[in-house]
Amino acid sequence: MSKVLIIGAGGVGRVTAMKCAEHPEVFSQIMLASRTKSKCDDIAQAVRLKHGVEIQTARVDAENVPELVALIRSFGPEMVIHVALPYQDLTIMDACLETGVHYLDTANYEPKEEAKFEYSWQWAYQDRFREKGIMALLGCGFDPGVTSIFTARAAKHHFDEMHYLDIVDCNGGDHGKAFATNFNPEINIREITQNGRYWENGQWVETQPFEFREELTYPNIGQRSSYLLYHEELESLVKNFPTLKRARFWMTFGDEYLTHLRVIQNIGMAGIEPVRYQGMDIVPLNFLKAVLPDPGSLGDNYTGETSIGCRIKGIKDGKEKSYYIWNNCSHQRAFDETGAQGVSYTTGVPAMTGAMMMLQGTWMDKGVFNVEEFNPDPFLDVLGKHGLEWHEATNVDLEL
Ligand code: NDP
Repeated sequence: MSKVLIIGAGGVGRVTAMKCAEHPEVFSQIMLASRTKSKCDDIAQAVRLKHGVEIQTARVDAENVPELVALIRSFGPEMVIHVALPYQDLTIMDACLETGVHYLDTANYEPKEEAKFEYSWQWAYQDRFREKGIMALLGCGFDPGVTSIFTARAAKHHFDEMHYLDIVDCNGGDHGKAFATNFNPEINIREITQNGRYWENGQWVETQPFEFREELTYPNIGQRSSYLLYHEELESLVKNFPTLKRARFWMTFGDEYLTHLRVIQNIGMAGIEPVRYQGMDIVPLNFLKAVLPDPGSLGDNYTGETSIGCRIKGIKDGKEKSYYIWNNCSHQRAFDETGAQGVSYTTGVPAMTGAMMMLQGTWMDKGVFNVEEFNPDPFLDVLGKHGLEWHEATNVDLEL
């Protein structure tokens, strides 16, 4: 029985709070804190109505370490689940170090002033977390998160050597809006407008944004145009599974989405450099976020499913083998259960499950870890019960 502090009250924070409240035997007391307290209060009200569980709420600026430390000291949690934004990873890790509290997040650190994300900043906390006797679990959403745990399962049970990994992420849903992103628009647009990158023969190969496209078939959805992107779990997976000769990440985008994105970029609205407007400095991408639909509001009437998985080729018992492991998640079912759409759901459920693994001592060590460094079995044993059923198939055509 443990107290947990959840930071961030967007779509992912909502799902994480809802799912933690379902398990009072693990999460005996929950506090939800974020920059805007009224959003925490709305979620607390939804949790009360759905589960009859009271959660506490607070306002915190997660970029302010003394504020975080004061909040952690006053509530006394065993761990922090960070589902605010990647900009706050390091300040929250600093506060955890100061207070001796475990840490979990779903996205690696990204500095605000540069659209660049990598693990080096957080891996640099390894010695300090180990010496303090606490644990940080990095990237425990769906991708990164479940995709890395799927890869660990493949390595443990299906291959002697994995050679080719393709992570495939399809959103086959329709929210009825002309243009909207499924999670924080600022983080999302920064991610997908960067150059792509994939791992091949021991080095990174850089690509132009949207340079490579494949028509891939997704279970229960059908064929979708899928584009090669750089995604953060590739960095830790090639380090932790050194037999990989190639590792790539693919995400589906519709033509409408890409046309809007091109216009947004061409007119400068994806910029992160401040521009002077009526005596004020405004970051165009921040302003765009303010006018785009809130991803948390997309759930109502969101039809279709997400399908995210790993397609892997390698060697087992001296023979070539192919393997596909995936989850499909219905937006409508996610919304009916939690009031949030499938992308928030597929992130919040693994965040809760990872926290459960840590608090029960199943995944517990001192230092900073990526999820694939732990035994995938106990996590995958319960993931379906928590709402994300997964499937696997061997020796099928992987299309890649
Ligand atoms: P939202 O933008 O909907 O929510 C972010 C929340 O963080 C908001 O409540 C926001 O507060 C709060 N916040 C922002 N800045 C601060 C701050 N300085 N102090 C305290 N709170 C702050 O994002 P999502 O819920 O869609 O996503 C949450 C996280 O999940 C992101 O880091 C995203 O990258 C990650 N993610 C991971 C995925 C995965 O599979 N691994 C997939 C999807 C998302 P306010 O309301 O005041 O703005």
